[in-house]
Amino acid sequence: MAKIFCVANQKGGVGKTTTTVNLAAGLADKGQRVLLVDLDPQGNATMGSGVDKRDLEMSVYEVLIDQAPVSEVICRGVGVSYDVLPTNRDLAGAEIELVDSEGRETRLSKALAPVLDQYDFILIDCPPSLSLLTLNGLCCAHGVIIPMQCEYYALEGLSDLVNSIKQVCANLNANLSIIGLLRVMFDPRITLSNQVSAQLEAHFGSKVFKTVIPRNVRLAEAPSYGLPGVVFDRSSKGAQAYISFAEEMIARVK
Ligand code: ATP
Ligand code: MG
Repeated sequence: MAKIFCVANQKGGVGKTTTTVNLAAGLADKGQRVLLVDLDPQGNATMGSGVDKRDLEMSVYEVLIDQAPVSEVICRGVGVSYDVLPTNRDLAGAEIELVDSEGRETRLSKALAPVLDQYDFILIDCPPSLSLLTLNGLCCAHGVIIPMQCEYYALEGLSDLVNSIKQVCANLNANLSIIGLLRVMFDPRITLSNQVSAQLEAHFGSKVFKTVIPRNVRLAEAPSYGLPGVVFDRSSKGAQAYISFAEEMIARVK
């Protein structure tokens, strides 16, 4: 039975997609069966897994509005060893269409049910908002992975996210918990980064992942080749860090 994790942070550009595609690739590298769900209409995780969002006949949008079974939309990423439930701009419409529908928060959860036994991990890349789409992700997940940059504003907004998670937990999905905070784009030469990192450890203790993802240009270059950094340049520092993170995740869910 798959363990489902949302990669979420309503702040934009904090490394959600980079984390989702590289964790997917890292887990696949360790022999895990992985499905990546792209819940962001930007479609960056889709493109970053070698699937061209402009060529999609169907996407997670059709799945959410009950027009296609999930098994017909899932495809294998190109150049990677995991599956993708891809998306494109159409998904932005789902937000509006679903707003008055019954069970609007649990659409994804219901849709994924038939494929749960085909995977060890399902990773959901969330959009940079606490929208209905993110809510759908949170409602089907066992845990949330929160990527954070260790900078002055990192903690701002974290309480909104934590509150949303608590609300989902109280009302819609009692299984949900924060698995951990992942420090990303880390630069140890910056004093402030070290201070914020120490602050996170002091406040959140074991909820802070041991693995730290460094700022690494190979991770930033990889998407333009339609690949996760872990596949694009496995020996780079960034890729190695995500492979360690995959190991840490496997150990945590055991
Ligand atoms: P959005 O909120 O728009 O969905 P996001 O949170 O998914 O953004 P990413 O797209 O993963 O963030 O990352 C933002 C930018 O930072 C991208 O250009 C990405 O390539 C770059 N980036 C992410 N992680 C790293 C890293 N560890 N080192 C260097 N660059 C990185
Ligand atoms: Mg993203």
